[in-house]
Amino acid sequence: KLSKRLEAVAGYITPGSTLADIGSDHAYLPCYALNKGIIRKGVAGEVSQGPLNSARSQVQASGLNDFIEVRKGDGLEVISPYEVDCITIAGMGGTLISSILEHGKEKLSGVKRLILQPNIGAKNVRVWLLENGWELIQEEILEEDQKIYEILVAEPGNSMIPYEHCNKDASLLMGPFLIQEKNSIFEKKWALELAHMRRILNQIEKSGQGGELAAKKTELRDNINLVEEILNHEA
Ligand code: SAM
Repeated sequence: KLSKRLEAVAGYITPGSTLADIGSDHAYLPCYALNKGIIRKGVAGEVSQGPLNSARSQVQASGLNDFIEVRKGDGLEVISPYEVDCITIAGMGGTLISSILEHGKEKLSGVKRLILQPNIGAKNVRVWLLENGWELIQEEILEEDQKIYEILVAEPGNSMIPYEHCNKDASLLMGPFLIQEKNSIFEKKWALELAHMRRILNQIEKSGQGGELAAKKTELRDNINLVEEILNHEA
């Protein structure tokens, strides 16, 4: 059975599409999407040999060799422009996801939807989308096994739209749609983050070293203010 997290990611795949799942590990996501009839075919990309072998075994065991191709390579180098219409990148940090997109930009021609699931640092992903003409169209936050995950869905379009009628800095950090919805998982995540940021700021202030930590302090203070404002604002 697929994890709740990956099932949620699969829910955003455009029906009838050809999918590339980058950093596929066991290829659970493309196999599931194919078995459910969501996709017509898929590519599972992996950079490391171990996960690549797991992906191959899983595709083989599922009898999906004719539909899902497992390819070894770094990020989007495993696909050609116009080969797929949907890309999923899940279970990595936001910095890695944005660097995969940045380095594979020319492969995004013809891609109609990106479904990105950063474990941490979703802000990096939102900034990349904003700067590269990908319009965030939906977001989801969910909890599984005591961990909180975010899913970001984007399509080519006017990437400014989600940030037009809200506090842009807060929205890049916390997600424009997630702020709008402000559900209990979101509140839980940001209460935890807030406590964490306050703790770090406190430690830095106690250590008394200025200099290179000054920028970090400013960033922490800014983010603390943004998060407090959003959490305290009555819906
Ligand atoms: N996508 C699956 C999921 O969400 O459950 C697997 C997540 S796993 C934690 C991350 C996978 O990404 C690893 O198997 C790793 O080898 C792969 N990976 C990391 N960097 C990559 C890159 N630049 N290109 C392709 N795969 C990468």
